Amino acid sequence: MQEIYDLAIIGGGINGCGVARDAVGRGMSVFLCEMNDLASGTSSWSTKLVHGGLRYLEYYEFRLVREALIEREILWKIAPHLIRPLRFVLPHHDGLRPAWLLRLGLFLYDHIGGRKLLPPTRTLDLTRDEVGRPLVPDVYKKAFEYSDCFVDDARLVVLTARDAADRGADIRTRSRAVEVRQEKEIWQVTVENTSSGERSTIAARALVNAGGPWVEDVLHLGAGVKARAKVRLVQGSHIVVRKLYAHDRAYMFQNSDGRIVFVIPYQDDFTLIGTTDRDYHGDPAKVKASDEEIEYLCESVSEYLAKPVTPKDVVWTYSGVRPLYDDGASEAKAATRDYVFELDTPGGAPLLSIYGGKITTYRRLAEEALERLSPYLRSATPREDFKAREGWTAKAALPAATWTFRRSRR
Ligand SMILES: Cc1cc2nc3c(=O)[nH]c(=O)nc-3n(C[C@H](O)[C@H](O)[C@H](O)COP(=O)(O)OP(=O)(O)OC[C@H]3O[C@@H](n4cnc5c(N)ncnc54)[C@H](O)[C@@H]3O)c2cc1C
Repeated sequence: MQEIYDLAIIGGGINGCGVARDAVGRGMSVFLCEMNDLASGTSSWSTKLVHGGLRYLEYYEFRLVREALIEREILWKIAPHLIRPLRFVLPHHDGLRPAWLLRLGLFLYDHIGGRKLLPPTRTLDLTRDEVGRPLVPDVYKKAFEYSDCFVDDARLVVLTARDAADRGADIRTRSRAVEVRQEKEIWQVTVENTSSGERSTIAARALVNAGGPWVEDVLHLGAGVKARAKVRLVQGSHIVVRKLYAHDRAYMFQNSDGRIVFVIPYQDDFTLIGTTDRDYHGDPAKVKASDEEIEYLCESVSEYLAKPVTPKDVVWTYSGVRPLYDDGASEAKAATRDYVFELDTPGGAPLLSIYGGKITTYRRLAEEALERLSPYLRSATPREDFKAREGWTAKAALPAATWTFRRSRR
């Protein structure tokens, strides 16, 4: 007789793998298919920050910022081998946001997320501190230094999937979902092996669409669902240049267009600069940094740096597509970064589609996804077991994590 999984997931990015790990740890039988390799989509093309998102405060996204700040320390604890604290220097720029506003934002940032381990904000005198040296002399005199974290995003996805598989999840890479239908309140998902072309069909009681930028394509595989929510694809590009300075701190530069650009020490010998925000209408698999974006990033940081960065200095670029929930914002930079679920039950069985989200909030997103599906899942899983494992991922380290984790001093 055909096995019926409790849960099938389409998409092996951070969100799909996060849901798979959480669900299997609660005692469910789980299937996940990823059409390419794990983290081959947006989840390996991010700025690689585990952060609250200081700039989202300007858009009054207090819920998102608070949740992301809480997650920042939880993730650091469960993956100290992939996540490290990073201090960000935010120079004050005459004519842009006033110092009192930056101070207020950073005060909120330090306090609304229950920060316990990372050090708080402090004010810097750029004429004395070494972080002032790479900047244009005599222009930037004062800065604020605050905490966030840096993550190896692709490894976070892979180890989340590894842990899910170790706990019994059936994780299949190079496996594209090509058809989705329902028979007697059971999902039938047909999966094609992209190397051999071989097809097989699996059955599941519930289905999660974690297709990222392909979330709407997955809905067209025959699920019989009319998507109400819409995805807004927003491209973000990064450039990598040879190491620009010797110290270990990152910068957050404010741009005159209201955006911000990060400059981050990267892989010992390089500096990572990003990102951009522009609506994208092409194939997400073919996204590429444009000359215009490269110039924009070079110009933005050159306003601050004593030695300007030019397109000739760029040794590598990468680009990703944010699968944002379309909240009708006029500009791409203002579209919400929060996640939104759409739950449908076309033939009786549930389909949960995920829009938006951040690497930083994937663990909490997975918990909420399972909470949303719980009325349908509890009958398939012994109730006591399900309840006992609720919220377990906040305390269980990812594979190979060492617990020699210490409070950061700076
Ligand atoms: C430029 C940029 C910078 C960012 N910076 C940050 C940051 O610093 N910090 C942060 O927290 N977040 C950041 N983000 C956001 C974060 O990267 C994304 O929200 C997150 O990676 C989305 O993960 P996902 O799993 O939803 O999508 P994806 O990672 O794209 O995963 C979806 C997967 O589904 C697969 N798939 C699609 N269709 C099928 C199918 N039919 N069958 C099988 N598999 C399928 C795809 O191959 C893909 O691997 C950034 C995003 C961008 C673009």
